[in-house]
Amino acid sequence: MTRLHNFCAGPAAMPSAVLERAREEMLDYRGQGLSVMEMSHRSPTFEAIAAKAERDFRELLAIPDNYRVLFMQGGATMQFACVPLNLLGGGGTPNYLDTGIWSTKAIKEADHLGAGHVAASTKASGYARVPRADEIALSSDAAYLHYCHNETIGGLAFDYVPEVDSAGLPLVCDMSSSILSTPLDVSQYGVIYAGAQKNIGPAGITVVIVREDLLDRAVARTPSLLGWKVYADNDSMINTPPTYAWYLAGLVFEWLKDDIGGLHAMEAINRRKSQALYDAIDASEFYANPIAPASRSLMNVPFTLADDSLNGRFLEEAEAEGLLNLKGHRSVGGMRASLYNAVTEADVAALTTFMQDFERRRG
Ligand SMILES: *Cc1c(COP(=O)(O)O)cnc(C)c1O
Repeated sequence: MTRLHNFCAGPAAMPSAVLERAREEMLDYRGQGLSVMEMSHRSPTFEAIAAKAERDFRELLAIPDNYRVLFMQGGATMQFACVPLNLLGGGGTPNYLDTGIWSTKAIKEADHLGAGHVAASTKASGYARVPRADEIALSSDAAYLHYCHNETIGGLAFDYVPEVDSAGLPLVCDMSSSILSTPLDVSQYGVIYAGAQKNIGPAGITVVIVREDLLDRAVARTPSLLGWKVYADNDSMINTPPTYAWYLAGLVFEWLKDDIGGLHAMEAINRRKSQALYDAIDASEFYANPIAPASRSLMNVPFTLADDSLNGRFLEEAEAEGLLNLKGHRSVGGMRASLYNAVTEADVAALTTFMQDFERRRG
């Protein structure tokens, strides 16, 4: 058996230790005589798995007691609709920061419920940076401010938390591709959500962190399975939850706590990984990354080759070296290496070595 170097943007690499543990427990979960995926979600065994996952997640992010953690389905894309549905019951205009493809999709969903206000956009720069704090202009009747912390496709991330406290607005953040990559001050946010398949676990489960006082703002006639309060009131078990994905997410949280040593340790590893790759790009005349240094993503590193006609060759040779999923998103082109938590420093070293070698031979 060989595990190759997987730089996929999502569904993404999982920690090998987690998969090994899942394999051991696959047929007979800890002496219960059945697999986690065969158990009732109402059984005491699964309830304990679910509760432990939430406890560990709360501990990792130091989530304050006045926040609820919800486990939903539908991905981050469903949350693009859930955010306006759950926060516009009292009226007001949804405000958005536009930094690329994912924030644009979120804005389109909000527009279904009444046009959103774009409080700042860096589209004119080709999304090569995030907006500065002084470029953000909220509408006078803003209901919340939404932004995407890390644009997975563009490869840019906020290096600061937008200030909305003075306006008393909830700050809402799509953290699908950056949650758990560094510590976080949850109290600065009203709502944080993330699809699992980048840094949490397999696809099929979505985590929402919501401040309790925001649970009564849903628009009337919100379908029950799209309403955060229904999940909060039913321990995220209003219907059958994605039990196996929940269990695997729990194993990832345990791995982060026990094997890695928490999010400060994870951040240090992630900084070394991305630094190594950006250094390799910056040291070369052959590779380039288009993002302003302060807005560079810790998790997703797009890069181009000086000669586009070599893209196919680069990808083929990379794959032959066991370096998988480096093709950039179809809307951007070039290459992209995603360096989520489960990607190791050894994976990144294999990539930079290959890049230097390829440049010598072709550049
Ligand atoms: C992947 C991603 C999404 C979409 O997630 P789905 O689970 O496919 O709906 C949304 N936002 C960001 C930032 C992402 O990285």
